[in-house]
Amino acid sequence: MVSKVALLLAVLACSQYLAQGVYVVSKAEWGGRGPKWTVALGNYLNYAIIHHTAGAYCETRAQCNSVLQSVQSYHMDSLGWPDIGYNFLIGGDGNVYEGRGWNNMGAHAAEWNPYSIGISFLGNYNWDTLEPNMISAAKQLLQDAVNRGQLSSGYVLYGHRQVSATECPGTHIWNEIRGWSHWSA
Ligand SMILES: [Zn+2]
Repeated sequence: MVSKVALLLAVLACSQYLAQGVYVVSKAEWGGRGPKWTVALGNYLNYAIIHHTAGAYCETRAQCNSVLQSVQSYHMDSLGWPDIGYNFLIGGDGNVYEGRGWNNMGAHAAEWNPYSIGISFLGNYNWDTLEPNMISAAKQLLQDAVNRGQLSSGYVLYGHRQVSATECPGTHIWNEIRGWSHWSA
């Protein structure tokens, strides 16, 4: 009984809700591995870069946990990166999933990594489609990033294809984010 209470407290301590109730699933909660190493990421960054994983879509916590573990294994074991590449990911269930998290530099946009946070939607958005709760989750996460000083209030939002030769973040996300207030051509 004591151990169950301790476990519950531990889960509560590392979980959180964003302002409008979007749940941020900690890496421990989705079964992620700790980083091999980290590099500090500064505050008041001027860029947020949106991606898709170009892989599996997921609709439930359990599915997303499994997909995230696969993405992390690919990044760490096949690509040799110290952790999953993105700072945060968003599932088809509308939850935000912690990747490298706040103040850790990601591996998602080459020379832009030190100047940006990377947020990736799980799925391939050349055919998968965004649900309203996924869009809301991303916008709340970005606002939280401003509130906590990770992003500057005047940050610029880019799709990955704007800074690298890639089709990322896929057609449907690309069409969506061009309507967001911080997006810039
Ligand atoms: Zn990308």
